[in-house]
Amino acid sequence: MTNEKKVKLIQNILNKLFPNPQISLEHKDPYTLLIAVLLSARSTDKKVNEITPLLFKKASNPKEMAKLSESDIRKIIKPIGLSPQKAKSIKSLSKILVDSFDSKVPKTFEELESLPGVGHKTASVVMSQAFDIPAFPVDTHVQRCAKRWKLTDGKNVKKIEEDLKKLFPKKSWNKLHLQIIYFGRTYCRAIGHKKENCPICSKI
Ligand code: SF4
Repeated sequence: MTNEKKVKLIQNILNKLFPNPQISLEHKDPYTLLIAVLLSARSTDKKVNEITPLLFKKASNPKEMAKLSESDIRKIIKPIGLSPQKAKSIKSLSKILVDSFDSKVPKTFEELESLPGVGHKTASVVMSQAFDIPAFPVDTHVQRCAKRWKLTDGKNVKKIEEDLKKLFPKKSWNKLHLQIIYFGRTYCRAIGHKKENCPICSKI
């Protein structure tokens, strides 16, 4: 099967299975999304969603967050893991937003990635889900599925992202990365997969 056919088939299947995927991290605006995504590194969305209401009750915008001490933030987010680094990043990025960005989350990759604790994947999630600017965040599920579907032989996230962006139409990226995450979680888990029963691999 050509890559072109495979891509269309995959999209059709994902559109049927997950017609209207929503990001599972709870948030109310770009800032709370940025903080939730930053917290989700090496954790689960479920765990983050348990903690963010407590954090956002104390501070849900850059000004309020910058006023909290690093240790106050750390105490709240401790159950998520990597709390010392994450608390440090949250405190300092909030201060930078207040001082240099008029307390708003910037809308460019360059500016977002200049913030402490914000890498390309986090920036991509914020660009796509908060601002509807096309991006293709590659997380562990997207990586695994793209490789198993032989859409890429990339050895790193950067190359995988490049390959996927070439294959799929730009207007579908924001929806597609969520669909692949949901597919990965539901059908294409890291361990144990039976091709004959699988909604995608049984057809490609
Ligand atoms: S068979 Fe299913 S679970 Fe296995 S790689 Fe294919 S899509 Fe993923």
